[in-house]
Amino acid sequence: MKPKHGKHILTINSGSSSLKTALFLMDKKETMELSARIERIGLSRGYFQIKDGKGRILAEEHPRLPDQDAALNKFLKWLQKRKTPLAAVGHRVVNGGLHYDQPELVTPRMEKTLSGLEPLDPNHLPQELKAVKTVRRFYPDLAQVACFDTAFHRHMPDVAQWYPLPRELWREGVRRYGFHGLSYEYLIHEMARVAGPQAARGRVIIAHLGNGASVAAIRGGKSMDTTMGFTPTGGLMMGTRSGDLDPGVVLYLLREKFMPLPAVSDLVNHRAGLLGVSGISPDLRDLMAQRAKNPRAAEAIELFCYQARKFLGALAGALGGLDTLVFTAGIGENMPWIRRRICQRLDFLGIHLDSALNERNAAVISRPGSQVTVRVMRTNEELMIARHTRRLLRHKIRNEG
Ligand code: AMP
Repeated sequence: MKPKHGKHILTINSGSSSLKTALFLMDKKETMELSARIERIGLSRGYFQIKDGKGRILAEEHPRLPDQDAALNKFLKWLQKRKTPLAAVGHRVVNGGLHYDQPELVTPRMEKTLSGLEPLDPNHLPQELKAVKTVRRFYPDLAQVACFDTAFHRHMPDVAQWYPLPRELWREGVRRYGFHGLSYEYLIHEMARVAGPQAARGRVIIAHLGNGASVAAIRGGKSMDTTMGFTPTGGLMMGTRSGDLDPGVVLYLLREKFMPLPAVSDLVNHRAGLLGVSGISPDLRDLMAQRAKNPRAAEAIELFCYQARKFLGALAGALGGLDTLVFTAGIGENMPWIRRRICQRLDFLGIHLDSALNERNAAVISRPGSQVTVRVMRTNEELMIARHTRRLLRHKIRNEG
């Protein structure tokens, strides 16, 4: 049955200082008609850009946007003027805690449950719940769907979810949840399409290397383990996030440096990672440009590649071997030098890159006949959100039908 209000689905993905939204026409072709990027939220000179599906810029400004809500308001005002009839809005919700293992329609009950989870994820959930309310102000009757980044990992084996901590904390929800689930889910579907269902059901490691970075071990299409844990600050070092630290480091900051909690949170989330080690930039392209003349840039790159290699080895151990390795996201899709560096010394796992294919960012970059197929794949979390939203909307319409 056709959705009641047209076939356009808006997706909303709010990061800590950025907001990405996209408008899809979800008929057979799944066309992205608009995409907006709002960056540097909270800083003096923000960035607001809207493009059409062909990449032509429709709006570009440098407004001062104090917070996420102001950014979303500005975009929705712009969108309302176009009068595109929306069928639904899909939100990326970073943390669904223990409650959600799949996307669901937003209901008052869900909003209550998620606001109860705010102590588990104070950096994301409050602003994500606010986005739901803001959309409702603009479109009071529109269906909204929450797509959780944790859902894909919700049924990892217990051994991958445990922290070695007393049981009470496990029962309270102090566990390894894992994130970037929408990206992993999209890529596993895409892999089934391009490489066949058998390849997608094999032992797969996906390295999602962007500003946020994590690696996941997947078997039978299901998550077996991943590098991020209780929060998206854990695991592999990232643009500005520290990744895993000895808890003693945090205790030292609190006890010996008398750092207040917000300062510790700011340090591990916004001042660590590539930015912290290099002292230059969180952006790996900037660091590559300075690698030859600035040893701190070179060291930050080296640490990133070394950690990625270590985690790849660890996750191959968790899977008991490897059939496919996938590189994705800004770094994984576009930086051959980094992929080569990460894969160095992984030949013992059967990973052998073909230099020419790697340089070209080809779809398959491993040498023909090598034991592990190494792929470069473009991720699309927005489309995954739009697909889930369409599915839930159809379900809703059928039930009300
Ligand atoms: P993402 O968070 O997925 O947008 O990835 C951002 C990271 O990818 C930054 O460290 C960028 O330097 C790096 N990157 C390298 N090449 C590109 C590219 N062509 N487009 C976007 N990001 C890139």
